[in-house]
Amino acid sequence: MPARKVDYLLIGGGLASANCARWLREEGADGEIVLVGREPDPPYNRPNCSKGYLQGKERREEAYFRPDEWWGEQRIELLTRTSVTALDADARTAKLSNKQEIEFDKALIATGANVRRLNVDGCQLEQIHYLRTLGNADAIREGTADAENVVLIGGSYIGCEVAASLTLLGKRCTIVMQEQHTLQRGFGEQVGTFFEDMLRAHGVTVHGGDELERFEGDGRVEKVVTRGGLELDADAVVIGAGVTPDVQLAERAGLKIGERGGVTCSSRLESSTPGVFAAGDICEYESVVHGGARVRIEHWDVAFNHGKTAALNMLGRDVAHTEVPYFYSVLADWGELEYVGPAYEWNQEIVRGSLDDGEFSNWYLQDGVVKAALSVGRSDDLDAARRLIGEGRQLDGAGRAQLSDLASDLKDL
Ligand SMILES: Cc1cc2nc3c(=O)[nH]c(=O)nc-3n(C[C@H](O)[C@H](O)[C@H](O)COP(=O)(O)OP(=O)(O)OC[C@H]3O[C@@H](n4cnc5c(N)ncnc54)[C@H](O)[C@@H]3O)c2cc1C
Repeated sequence: MPARKVDYLLIGGGLASANCARWLREEGADGEIVLVGREPDPPYNRPNCSKGYLQGKERREEAYFRPDEWWGEQRIELLTRTSVTALDADARTAKLSNKQEIEFDKALIATGANVRRLNVDGCQLEQIHYLRTLGNADAIREGTADAENVVLIGGSYIGCEVAASLTLLGKRCTIVMQEQHTLQRGFGEQVGTFFEDMLRAHGVTVHGGDELERFEGDGRVEKVVTRGGLELDADAVVIGAGVTPDVQLAERAGLKIGERGGVTCSSRLESSTPGVFAAGDICEYESVVHGGARVRIEHWDVAFNHGKTAALNMLGRDVAHTEVPYFYSVLADWGELEYVGPAYEWNQEIVRGSLDDGEFSNWYLQDGVVKAALSVGRSDDLDAARRLIGEGRQLDGAGRAQLSDLASDLKDL
């Protein structure tokens, strides 16, 4: 069968691909756009999987990027349950699991990430879950329907959000994690403790500084045993131990992989092979707002905005990606955080507002330079943070004092 020719091939059925397709059309692409995704659902917003959808407050369709008819109206061919099995980046051809061969003019690779699996004794028992897809969220809902005790392994976003959502559903949730406090790895001890206190106040039990040793049970999980010697009753377990970027296809295609494990891209999100772009969780790009440093971020807003930048560059607009990475997390209806950054390291934290009052921004500085800021109820502060991150300017003592002084306007900084 001769290869079918298309103008734009978008590999991966997630947010980055979907938003790229949208912007290609909105910015005037006239040619054929084919989006290939291996999941049964059309592109959707994963954050719903640990929040409203898991809580049963949202229908599946509410998570979808666009309603079904939109794809046809936009003349975007959406192939679900289909994988790209091989990519020849130089020859600009791809093989699909449906046996089609496609020749493309420009391609986007946005294959996302896979959950990190923990291979401990008992890991094959039933009712041990991971969460990445709507299907996983369905399995957790069903598997915990009659559960009393649920153990969450990992104290980062997934562990905390799922603990909050399942607590809302009446489950007794316990978090086990290596770090001392929830969310500590990304946001430090002070902010980590703030969210841990919030979880505890709503009935979640938290065991920090410990680690999973094994699962026990007969057919299905009954107990979580930790290295520290805890034996926790568990009718179900959800593991949130991070993800790894899914760069298998990109690697086999000979695209350069960076030290953060993603596809190495220019500031325009073009990979080492001209005409092939990357976006979202797998995209390790040269970030102009970070002085050209290479960053790779696994968050919704970044995937969304990457999709747009990649589309513009596929159309030859030659624009750098200049958004300061932003992300958010929501713990049931108890509280939420927003963050711009990221700070991979910092040696000073400055609080603006009050943790006790639950309204503050926490600023992360490295040698006086703002690297990131986290807000709880002070979103406006993040505008100044975005500007300061982009400027990369070292603040003197007076400048740093201004950060914590609620009477001083951050616009003047
Ligand atoms: C449960 C959950 C909650 C989250 N909550 C938040 C949040 O609150 N805030 C936040 O900022 N971020 C959140 N995120 C992160 C955010 O959703 C991701 O960063 C975002 O989805 C990344 O989009 P992507 O398009 O890069 O990849 P993905 O969404 O992973 O999409 C990639 C798709 O490509 C498919 N694929 C892979 N290989 C192939 C192939 N060879 N052929 C065809 N298809 C392929 C995959 O199956 C997948 O469907 C959450 C993530 C999860 C899992």
